[in-house]
This record gives sequence, structure tokens and C-alpha cells, in this order.
Amino acid sequence: MNNEIFESVDHYIGNLLGHEDEALIAATRSLKEAGMPAISISPNQGKFLQILALLCNAKNILELGTLAGYSTIWMARALPKDGRLITLEYDPKHAAVAQKNIERAGLAEQVQIKTGRALDILPQLHAEGAGPFDMIFIDADKPPYADYFEWALKLSRSGTLIVADNVIREGKVLDENSTEAAVNGAQRFNKMLGANTAVTATILQMVGVKEYDGMALAIVK
Ligand code: SAM
Repeated sequence: MNNEIFESVDHYIGNLLGHEDEALIAATRSLKEAGMPAISISPNQGKFLQILALLCNAKNILELGTLAGYSTIWMARALPKDGRLITLEYDPKHAAVAQKNIERAGLAEQVQIKTGRALDILPQLHAEGAGPFDMIFIDADKPPYADYFEWALKLSRSGTLIVADNVIREGKVLDENSTEAAVNGAQRFNKMLGANTAVTATILQMVGVKEYDGMALAIVK
């Protein structure tokens, strides 16, 4: 797909409305410095998540998949002073880099990184009564997305917004014969979302500086 026009327009929107300050720029830079993959959300997607967090007056946010904390910083900036964001990250190296970026952004008081497998930490959060969260952003490994969603529901209340990134995968979700684990994870998740009567949901196609993909949005009834 020729992505040129989408990239140019994404830059145009970003220059007008998706301003990145030094803390966000440094978070992106830290990926290269630490030899981590450049797979954060884009600046405009960060602004989009921030607006979603503001729309639902989020005071408690849960994120699955921290990487260097780029999306974390965008969302945490929508929190009130006494708000909190818990973010789950499997890789201790990613968590350490993210911690520095979060401190640099002045968000250490509000953001807590929990290191480990999301599927191990989510039941702990549930047992501790950590929820309900006002907004949950799913952006960790793709194969267990449907399981992540089930846990997100357990950690929700009526009105919680659940967002899941990368659920269209350049349109590969249309291929019923795909054997890609990430595609199969997104397909399972999308099918489950379509049949789930506990939420009102849709999927937005996403184009821009990143590869063509989509974000699912679900409000718990
Ligand atoms: N949300 C980040 C952002 O936009 O800045 C990007 C997250 S990146 C796409 C996915 C992250 O999930 C990686 O840092 C990866 O190490 C982490 N991850 C992978 N499997 C995981 C698991 N089972 N539990 C928790 N985190 C996991």
C-alpha cells in the first residue's frame, strides 16, 4: 500500500496538534539507545489516547505493554494529580528504560510499572482489588489478546473504556488461512469482541506514520 499521503497528513496533524515535548522525544530516543524495537504508538495516537482518557475522566488507568513508556506518558498526562496508572511489562530491560523515561517526564508519583507476564499479574491485580479501572489500554503481545480482554472486563466497571491496539494488522485479519500468531490473536480477539454482549464496541482503522492497523474501542455496559 502507498502510505505516502497518510504519512504526510499524519505529520501535518502532528505538527498542528500532536506536539511532543522533550520527555516524549527522549522516550523515543531511548529505544534506539537501548537497542529496543521502535514499536511505540505514534504521536497522534498518543494524543488520541490522551483525549480518550480525558473523555472518560480517567483517574485509574491500566496499560498492558509498556515498552519505553511512550504511550504511558501520553495517557498519564491526562490524569488528575491524585490519579494513577499501572503499566505491565514483561521485559525487565524495557521496564528499566521506561522507569527512567517516566521519571524524566515527572510522572513517577502517578505511574507504577509492574514487571512480569501480564497473564500472571492481572489475576494478582484482581485479587488485590486494584480495579475498577476507568480506562484499560491493551498493547502487549498479540496472541493472548482475547484473554487480556477477559481480564480487562474483570477489572472494569460500567463505563470503563477498553482500548486494544494492532487489531487489523495491515488487513491480514481478513485472511482466514493466516498462520501468523499475531494475526490469529487479533482475529480471535475481534471475533470475541463482535460476540461480546458486555460491551459496546467498534474498531477504528488507523493509517499514518505507522503501518496500516486498527484500534478497538469498547465501553463496558
Ligand atoms: N504501549 C507501548 C507504547 O506504545 O509506547 C508499546 C508496547 S510494545 C507494542 C509491547 C510491549 O509488551 C513490549 O515492551 C513487550 O516486551 C511487552 N510484552 C510482551 N509480552 C508481554 C507479556 N506477556 N506481558 C507483559 N508485557 C509483554
